[in-house]
Amino acid sequence: MKTPLYDTLALIGVGLIGSSIARAARAHGAVRQIVATARSENTRRRVAELGIADKVVETNAEAVTGADLVVVCIPVGVCGAVAKEIGPHLKPGATLSDVGSVKSSVIRDMGAHLPKTVHFVPAHPVAGTEHSGPDAGFAELFDGRWCILTPPEGTDAEAVDRLAVFWRLIGAKVEIMSAEHHDLVLAITSHVPHLIAYNIVGTAADMEEVTQSEVIKFSAGGFRDFTRIASSDPVMWRDVFLNNKEAVLEMLARFSEDLAALQRMIRWDDGPALEALFTRTRAIRRGIIEAGQDTEAADFGRPHGHDD
Ligand code: NAP
Repeated sequence: MKTPLYDTLALIGVGLIGSSIARAARAHGAVRQIVATARSENTRRRVAELGIADKVVETNAEAVTGADLVVVCIPVGVCGAVAKEIGPHLKPGATLSDVGSVKSSVIRDMGAHLPKTVHFVPAHPVAGTEHSGPDAGFAELFDGRWCILTPPEGTDAEAVDRLAVFWRLIGAKVEIMSAEHHDLVLAITSHVPHLIAYNIVGTAADMEEVTQSEVIKFSAGGFRDFTRIASSDPVMWRDVFLNNKEAVLEMLARFSEDLAALQRMIRWDDGPALEALFTRTRAIRRGIIEAGQDTEAADFGRPHGHDD
């Protein structure tokens, strides 16, 4: 039996990501015990039924008391309020982390409420599916995926290293970068693509000359893939856009310029320019497959869903 990295892991929020961490931490013996809590009675009951935590408690304060690692797995818009609530109950020397898809706002909102005796190491596992809730999680979610840590300057190096080892132990590859850089990169690789999907599915739904049933009946690969992304959790994604405003708006401005250029190519029958762009983009896809971040398989080789 390996020695666990942390004695007690507390999870606040046990949806897709929180429940996957619970399952993976247990599968890899990363912690001795897992204490979990969620906002609703329903989720707490379900987590207890699933048996993915050693203890399910009613309050956030109770969950973090005595925990060595606390991971907050809730929408980014509510991280500040939860930090305020748990701040006074955190054990000196404990590590507090999160999994939010935006990092600068989380550091701003949570950092203000944390005692100096706690190591704050924000994290974002770049792995997910369009499904939510404790039933949606699975132990292999993080296998081969990146987890980005964005420790604020001056964070204890040993606490950062230990959290990095934790993520590696549960399957992820770890990279460390600043929160600002993270938010810019993720704006283009994840946030704007989601916005495009929400937009195109919304546009199709609004079209009067194409009936809803035709949209469903003839949804070929392209549109179908957008509908998958556009079915992602509305609250989580609302919070992502409201909390990564600047980077998303910057990337959208670039995107709109490039879209206008494409419009022009089509209007002026500029076949070579279209072909040149599509050839460049195909090479990017090949690069992603070569980097092991996707496969050629039509279902992208993921048994449980897809990646965000
Ligand atoms: P999820 O499956 O919807 O689970 C969210 C959890 O947060 C639930 O346990 C929910 O409790 C709790 N919660 C919601 N609102 C809350 C509030 N106001 N106060 C306290 N708890 C609240 O979501 P998820 O996909 O795991 O996402 C959690 C975090 O991971 C988000 O910050 C997201 O940005 C990040 N993330 C998501 C993905 C992805 O692909 N989904 C990938 C990487 C990172 P109840 O069930 O009781 O309502």
